[in-house]
Amino acid sequence: MWGSALFYWITLFCRIKSMTLGSGCSTLSMGTRCEVFTAFFSKSDEVVDSSAILDVWHKNIPSKVSLFAWRLFRNRLPTKDNLARRSILPHTDIACLVGCGTPESVQHLFIGCALSNRVWQYVRIWLGIDYVASNNICQHFVQFVFIAGMPRSTFIFFKVIWLACVWVIWKERNNQVFTNISSAPSTLIEKVKLTSFL
Ligand SMILES: [Zn+2]
Repeated sequence: MWGSALFYWITLFCRIKSMTLGSGCSTLSMGTRCEVFTAFFSKSDEVVDSSAILDVWHKNIPSKVSLFAWRLFRNRLPTKDNLARRSILPHTDIACLVGCGTPESVQHLFIGCALSNRVWQYVRIWLGIDYVASNNICQHFVQFVFIAGMPRSTFIFFKVIWLACVWVIWKERNNQVFTNISSAPSTLIEKVKLTSFL
């Protein structure tokens, strides 16, 4: 994990995975997972609203990643559509780098494109969760982190995973822009795992 508390993090993750496997299913619905987490974490844990979840500043998240997420949620990243809006790129040159033909926007790059979709699919398989994801970036984040009824102590776990995922997608996008090198989704999910636990 970014920063400290690595031991706690790995213990927590292993406990969650063992609970998932113990259910006898390869994937769990959010409702089932909620029950699993509720059973694991202290009953004294508070449940907080989604505005608290959108706060990306945390001691275990590098400030550069928090700043990146802050810009992401406010659509202030230099995606191609934003660059064209500022007349830095011609409007005819805003196509997604994957070649899908769609303009590169925050929504498309991080959750709409086939590449990012595949990465999120790997994340769901990795965590053993299954749900229909929102096509709005903020709602996607809240949905991922704020599983209804979940106690506060689980939020940072899902926040780090989610932020690691968008961070890796953004780094991959920049690699393609500046070095013309691309990675397969299976490689990206390994980077997400490494980023989450470092
Ligand atoms: Zn695309």
